Amino acid sequence: MNFEALANLDFRVADRCDPLSAFRNYFHIPQKNGKEVIYLCGNSLGLMPKQTDVYISNALQQWQSHGVEAHFTTATPWVNYHEISKPILASLVGAKPSEVVAMGTLTSNLHNLLATFYRPTPKRFKILCEKGIFSSDRYALISHIEWHGFSPEETLIEVGNHHSISVPTPLSTQEIVEAIEEHQDSLALVFFAGVQYITGQFFDIKTIVQKAHQVGAYAGFDLAHAIGNVPLALHDWQVDFACWCSYKYLNASPGGVGGLFVHQNIQFLPTLKGWWGHNPQSRFNMPVHFSAEPGADAWQWSNAPIIPLAILQASLDIFQEANFEKLVQKSRKLTAFLESLLLQINQKFNRDVLQIITPSKVEERGCQLSVSFIEKGKLIYELLNQNGVICDWREPNVVRLAPVPLYNSFADVAQAVIILENILSQIIEH
Ligand SMILES: *Cc1c(COP(=O)(O)O)cnc(C)c1O
Repeated sequence: MNFEALANLDFRVADRCDPLSAFRNYFHIPQKNGKEVIYLCGNSLGLMPKQTDVYISNALQQWQSHGVEAHFTTATPWVNYHEISKPILASLVGAKPSEVVAMGTLTSNLHNLLATFYRPTPKRFKILCEKGIFSSDRYALISHIEWHGFSPEETLIEVGNHHSISVPTPLSTQEIVEAIEEHQDSLALVFFAGVQYITGQFFDIKTIVQKAHQVGAYAGFDLAHAIGNVPLALHDWQVDFACWCSYKYLNASPGGVGGLFVHQNIQFLPTLKGWWGHNPQSRFNMPVHFSAEPGADAWQWSNAPIIPLAILQASLDIFQEANFEKLVQKSRKLTAFLESLLLQINQKFNRDVLQIITPSKVEERGCQLSVSFIEKGKLIYELLNQNGVICDWREPNVVRLAPVPLYNSFADVAQAVIILENILSQIIEH
């Protein structure tokens, strides 16, 4: 895309021509000082769809009117309620419906999947991940390593530089591939994010999986910042497993129900079991022997949380209506617009006052741009928030701005940058 031309884009015209502009109205936009905020924080917590109340109250109504019988007698019986979200989740991650299930929370799903996919032997025991991996994921990996009696120092191989001690930088696929090769004989598992939470880098999942499989390791992914944000093809890429939360780009409420993916090629591996993973035909006979449901459903433990699933569905139905391919198209344009306006700030100040850490290639990022300010980063972030631009701050020096195509407009982006420029001209010399 042409940056000069994009920076001169008239945001009013862009919004008028945006076929998805009506979807902003499907969401509650929070207010600050009596004005709608510019919400660029869907990477952390997605906004609440206006229909969420209706979905919740329908679920409550079933409980109110039918009690226990709602498990079987209503139009959407609770006993297979977890199946309703399958087609849309599958389309978002590029899977077959049987390969995905809405359940649990991200970290608990990761523990669940690591029990299956990390079974180290004295020869093959290492896990390769990225040094800037999200803390919770790292804790989960470490706990399984310790659980199996291995030492984290020798077992967890971390690629790249640590994000807390320098300006975070994206990792090249080459670096990842070389690290896999280096440890090829002792590698049990390669575990990466889909989209890195600090840099916003969208990793080359296909290549990582190919390389992991070539050396005989499994490959798993955390899609917290990827699902609902970037196009995915987990089935075709032969990803072994993945998990995600749904409160970021999927707008499914804080701590809402997450999900997992297991490739259909995966069979006969041990799982941690619960009755909801048992074949529904005989589940209620409470048989002594466990017989797994086909597909990802076998990883379920407990009966599904109906209210959180109803909340998830309120948002998934919007994704269905909007069409994810169109969302991606808009997302790329919206983010490139933000990028071009930010780069223009450096020109206006005649020096670099900010640096965009996120890769500039569209296939290496989603909607998030991570910005590092050369000075006064924390103050700039605080002033942005005070002035109604909701974004977030990550140590050591990163402001994350995520224009979300479902509810952000080109006007949001243009206005956010005007506010940023005003802040900069007040606190930075030029
Ligand atoms: C948001 C996020 C989490 C949060 O985990 P929860 O179990 O949902 O609290 C974990 N890992 C990554 C990479 C995330 O982005």
